[in-house]
Amino acid sequence: MSYLSIRGLHKSYGTTSIFSDIDCEIGKGEFVTLLGPSGCGKSTLLRCIAGLTEVGGGQILLDGDDLVPQAPQKRGIGMVFQSYALFPNMTVQQNVAFGLRMQKVAKEESAERVREALAMVELGDFAARYPHQLSGGQCQRVALARSLVTRPRLLLLDEPLSALDARIRKHLREQIRQIQRELGLTTIFVTHDQEEALVLSDRIFLMNAGQIVQSGDAETLYTAPVDVFAAGFIGNYNLLDASQASRLLDRPVSSRIAIRPEAIQIGSQGKIEAQIRSHSLLGNVIRYRIEARGVELLVDVLNRSADDMHANGQRIALNIDANAIREVA
Ligand code: ADP
Ligand code: MG
Repeated sequence: MSYLSIRGLHKSYGTTSIFSDIDCEIGKGEFVTLLGPSGCGKSTLLRCIAGLTEVGGGQILLDGDDLVPQAPQKRGIGMVFQSYALFPNMTVQQNVAFGLRMQKVAKEESAERVREALAMVELGDFAARYPHQLSGGQCQRVALARSLVTRPRLLLLDEPLSALDARIRKHLREQIRQIQRELGLTTIFVTHDQEEALVLSDRIFLMNAGQIVQSGDAETLYTAPVDVFAAGFIGNYNLLDASQASRLLDRPVSSRIAIRPEAIQIGSQGKIEAQIRSHSLLGNVIRYRIEARGVELLVDVLNRSADDMHANGQRIALNIDANAIREVA
């Protein structure tokens, strides 16, 4: 049974269509990601759901109510943006209490709910600080507390981690996911970062140019991309056209194929002769750029010991897992 149901949604700015027919269904308590390149319409879709921009047509049903005619503040939606958008002249406590003041929640209840929300994001001791006294990650936790405190029916997060450095980003994404699970809060998380989407989501909606091109769990998107865009966007597929594929596999191939870098084995044994062009060490993985039968390929090998490393120019042989070769549209 779906909780948020988007049907035939379209949106234009002036004469430019951003999307023309978005359909999607999200279950209660689900954590879904909208993943796609910059400009594909992710933020616009979130803004339509939140009521921050008007839709051209279609329905957005939340728990059975059509949100489209409702004012944004009536929708019961919490939203967090990449820019924290905190009030600089208010303390953390006042920032978080702001939404409750608008809802005319009584002072004592408000104070208690703000305490709870700040505890959830581990900022209980920061209530009296001002935004300029906080780090970026702390500001974003305040922004999160500010939307949680209103007890939204739906949480929308628009690239909330993109302005933060890598370590903080990883920590905060785990924290968001944990809070989301505890509260059973239906959440749409927007990102252009495939790793973030793969790690976090119950389900990923992959978007390109105003369309949802594929949806599914991380494993489905990673192992069975529906087309060249999906294959190129998630992971590091080797994409070969039909003539390259025919040459490499030494049999007639009539479509494009995609091969994961980790599905290719290199060593002294193998059917196909190849040569190492270059290599780079990515922590626990060694990524080789190799050439085989005139085709350039990326190959990822688990980095077990320095002795396993192949030198640039070295001649090797390779094998490709037959069932890792995917035909793509
Ligand atoms: P994303 O969040 O995926 O990067 P956006 O939803 O922000 O993409 O933008 C989708 C498209 O809509 C882009 O081409 C962008 O230029 C355009 N767009 C976004 N906001 C406006 C606006 N207020 N007026 C006109 N065009 C806009
Ligand atoms: Mg955006």
